[in-house]
Amino acid sequence: MSKILKPARMERCIGCGLCELMASKISKEKYSYSESFVQIRKSSSGQPFFKAIIDYGQETDYPEVKEICPVDCFDIEEEE
Ligand code: SF4
Repeated sequence: MSKILKPARMERCIGCGLCELMASKISKEKYSYSESFVQIRKSSSGQPFFKAIIDYGQETDYPEVKEICPVDCFDIEEEE
């Protein structure tokens, strides 16, 4: 089974965007918010304030993306 990046603790997210940039740097070799497989969006209302939209059509289990998050929002887990 393959592993995936999971937004496990988005209630901690401060919307810094570092995960988006790291994800695009690793997969596309450039810093791009729009081409990243992680997209951080403001929630329409209530908490958590941000949500992560992840493109699981590609490899996502990069420890660098998990580790760059300053508030430890992500886990890398077996796909369910
Ligand atoms: S790196 Fe962490 S805190 Fe920053 S936008 Fe991504 S999930 Fe949110």
